[in-house]
Amino acid sequence: MGWKIVLSLVFFILVVGLLTFYWFLPIGELIEFKVSDGHSNFTLNASLNTSMQFYENMRYQTSNISYRIDRCPLAREDEMKRAFDFLETRTILNFYKVSGGEEISVTCEDSVQGEKGLFIAGEGGVTNVTVTENFNVIFNGMVILIRETKCSDPLVGTHELLHALGFDHSNNPNNIMYPTLNCKQTLGDDIVEHINWLYSFPTFSDLSFENASASRKGGYLGFVISIRNHGLKNSENSTLIIYADNKSIKELEIEPIPIGSGRKITLSNIFIMQRNIEELKLFIKYDSEELDKDNNKITLEIKE
Ligand SMILES: [Zn+2]
Repeated sequence: MGWKIVLSLVFFILVVGLLTFYWFLPIGELIEFKVSDGHSNFTLNASLNTSMQFYENMRYQTSNISYRIDRCPLAREDEMKRAFDFLETRTILNFYKVSGGEEISVTCEDSVQGEKGLFIAGEGGVTNVTVTENFNVIFNGMVILIRETKCSDPLVGTHELLHALGFDHSNNPNNIMYPTLNCKQTLGDDIVEHINWLYSFPTFSDLSFENASASRKGGYLGFVISIRNHGLKNSENSTLIIYADNKSIKELEIEPIPIGSGRKITLSNIFIMQRNIEELKLFIKYDSEELDKDNNKITLEIKE
């Protein structure tokens, strides 16, 4: 009869309503996920000699480094050009002259001061460095040539140029990096090896997860994720993909990230049908090459 149908209908609506309530409202216990593995970081197999440079693993973005010589008398300009040649013939580095926007600025004024106390050595040093987990990336270096060498090799220019490449003084009186000049000084093999090793790494980006956590309440997931570029190059667009028990649940485009910079991503209310998720996997899909692809993934598990 009529009332039976009405009762069934009310019951049916109630059941559907409760199910909807259960599925689509963020109710239930708060479950938190934390990093379980995959947070591997690219290591440079430890640098050959960590004490040679002002900071560990200092290098410019590429092995082709631009320079500009400004306000130098001819003899000192010649000294500096010979210094560039001297390092070019002994290492994998190349130096090229530009008229502006140079990486290494050479001047012959003795009144020039460095920026923000980063100007380490008196006559040559680095003025702009970005710290990453892999390298201390030098954007700008500086040389102030006060005198030219009276020796057969351009020892003064090369000594200052090495400071601009991040090299510190040596305690060995016969090494070109000894604080005071002597014509018998030579460029040590250790410096050559260190430069060739540092610049053996290609100029790639290196996107990696810095941190990640997730939480679930009912059918809703939330994430806090940070991604950083530890490479030698600004990154292009990449895609963050989130998997819940190997099923892709979210894709998000990540804008370019400069060297040493990071992005913090907060996601909330991602609805999923699965209720018993064991693990969440995060993956950075990046189409170009990177210094390391292994650090593009991270796994989150339920916090015990
Ligand atoms: Zn010096």
